[in-house]
Amino acid sequence: MQVLPLVDRFGRVATDLRVSLTDRCNLRCSYCMPPEGLDWMPNEDQLTDDEVVRLIGVAVTRLGVREVRFTGGEPLVRRGLVDIVRQTHAIDPGVELSLTTNALGLARTAEALAEAGLDRVNVSLDSVREDTFTTITRRDRLHDVIDGLAAADAAGLGPVKVNAVLLRGINDDQAPELLRWCLDRGYQLRFIEQMPLDAQHGWSRSTMVTAEETLERLEAAFTLAPAKEPRGSAPAELFTVDGGPATVGVIASVSRPFCGDCDRVRLTADGQVRNCLFARTESDLRSPLRAGATDADLAERWLAAVRPKAPGHGIDDPTFLQPDRPMSAIGG
Ligand code: SAM
Ligand code: SF4
Repeated sequence: MQVLPLVDRFGRVATDLRVSLTDRCNLRCSYCMPPEGLDWMPNEDQLTDDEVVRLIGVAVTRLGVREVRFTGGEPLVRRGLVDIVRQTHAIDPGVELSLTTNALGLARTAEALAEAGLDRVNVSLDSVREDTFTTITRRDRLHDVIDGLAAADAAGLGPVKVNAVLLRGINDDQAPELLRWCLDRGYQLRFIEQMPLDAQHGWSRSTMVTAEETLERLEAAFTLAPAKEPRGSAPAELFTVDGGPATVGVIASVSRPFCGDCDRVRLTADGQVRNCLFARTESDLRSPLRAGATDADLAERWLAAVRPKAPGHGIDDPTFLQPDRPMSAIGG
């Protein structure tokens, strides 16, 4: 079958598909959603397991997607997750499959996920102190995350990556401690700048902990040097720690955008294609899918959705407007 790459008007080609499997979550991270949670998507709006797999199939077989990352909300709360992974793996075993998760319940499912064809996990963990973890996530579940990480590692879902967001006055002084904890366990830590994607619109550029500040904090405790491996389209700038081989990453999504090298495209849990996290428009694939569209027709719509992708997120532009949906509903 002829593959038509998902190329946009600036020549960027999307090969990395982020699939949100649900907007629901069992944590309430303060930079993501309010304490009471959100009005979750009605079940009938959400793609069924078969619909998700069909759309991933279109992306892989017709549009050149080579990496699929399952996310949310919290993808582990989606009942059909293991089956969706298995069916996605069957479409093309050469496609890399990963999961971005808060790791609650991962201890129970890591082995089944690995057996179904999942390659790697990225676990979000902002603090290894119980009180700070509970303050940020509003749930006392640090031990579940730690167990989940260990289970993922034991199941071969490595190298296990840990994503952390630093919040001023809450955990920004804990960056070296978190790095030491990850190094001791062989996990690869990456710090991500907080982005204006929270449901409460509480983000502020002036209080955001920048990648530069994060590096300064780490350098007070470790010797960092730029890692030699080429960055390519990967958003993390990697540094060797104390001479290597261990590394730490910083993702300066806001202060040093990497939009020019972006290779991502997103599918929401209700079947909307988003060509950018910060896009203000979406393209509906669920309606045509449910109305009997062919795979060729869905591929054509997907190509049309990617073509007008903006050159950058424009957070620093005075005209910047946060997208209507928060990160948890888009898929982080
Ligand atoms: N629930 C899963 C998790 O937390 O890993 C997957 C979804 S979550 C939205 C994906 C990632 O987005 C997490 O690493 C989380 O820390 C990050 N995130 C959420 N809100 C963010 C924000 N406002 N700025 C930067 N990262 C954010
Ligand atoms: Fe849930 Fe992930 Fe948002 Fe935290 S960051 S509330 S774990 S979706």
